[in-house]
Amino acid sequence: MTSTPDPDLAARLDAVLARIDAAAQRNGRDGREILLLLATKSRTPAEIAEAVALVRSRGRQVAVGENRAQEIAKHADPALAGLDVPRHFIGRLQTNKARDVVAFASMIHSVDRPDIIDALERRARTAGLTRKVLVQVNTSGEESKGGYPPHPAEIAAAVDRLREGGMLVPAGLMTIGANTSETGAVRASLSRLRQLRDELADPAVQHLSMGMSGDLEIAVEEGASIVRVGSAIFGPRPA
Ligand SMILES: *Cc1c(COP(=O)(O)O)cnc(C)c1O
Repeated sequence: MTSTPDPDLAARLDAVLARIDAAAQRNGRDGREILLLLATKSRTPAEIAEAVALVRSRGRQVAVGENRAQEIAKHADPALAGLDVPRHFIGRLQTNKARDVVAFASMIHSVDRPDIIDALERRARTAGLTRKVLVQVNTSGEESKGGYPPHPAEIAAAVDRLREGGMLVPAGLMTIGANTSETGAVRASLSRLRQLRDELADPAVQHLSMGMSGDLEIAVEEGASIVRVGSAIFGPRPA
C-alpha cells in the first residue's frame, strides 16, 4: 500500500488537543486524562497508523475505534496489526457480527439492547475473552439513534444483565450528542449522560464516552473521559 503522509494531519491533531485541553481546564481537569479515540471510519491503515504515532508523540493516550464490523479486517493490515494500540468498537452492533467484534475490540461502546448483550456474552465465552462494555444511551431522543432510553432503572437492568454472564465487564456509558446547532440542546444531551452515571452510583460504571468533532468541548466540559474524533483529525471524509 502506498502511503502519502498527510502534511496537515499534525496541525489538525494539535488543534483538537488544544480544544480538549482548554475544555478540560474549564472544569478543573487535565486534558491528558482524556482518552482520544480515533474514529477510523473509511481511513486507510497507513493514515490510521500515522495518526496513532502522532498522538503518542504528543504524550497522549490513544485508542482506535471502528464503527463497521465489515471494516475490522482492515486492522489486520501490516501497517496496523503490529501497533500495540487499544481497539474499540463504536458502531451499530448486529448479533451475526458479535464474534468478529469480540475478537477485535477490548472495549465495546455501543451496546444498546438485551439480544446484543447475550450474543456478545456467548461469543466472549467461546473465545475465552473478557471485554469491557459501555451501555449506549439515547440521550437526545432522536429516533435515528440507538441506545437505551435515558432512565436509570433500564440502564441498571442492562448493567445487571452484562454482569450475569461473567465475560462482559460494565465500564461506563456512551452517547452521541444531539444533532443540532443549538448548543443548549447538545449540552443537555451530554450532561444527561453524566447525570445518569452519577444516579447509577455503580463503582464500575465510570467512563463517559461522548464528544465528536463538532461537540467535543461541550462533552469534555460535561465530564467525558473518552472522546471519539474522526473528521477533525483526518479531514473531511472522502466522498
Ligand atoms: C464517526 C463517528 C465518530 C466521529 O465522528 P466525527 O464527527 O467524524 O468526529 C464518533 N462516534 C461514532 C459512533 C462515530 O460513528
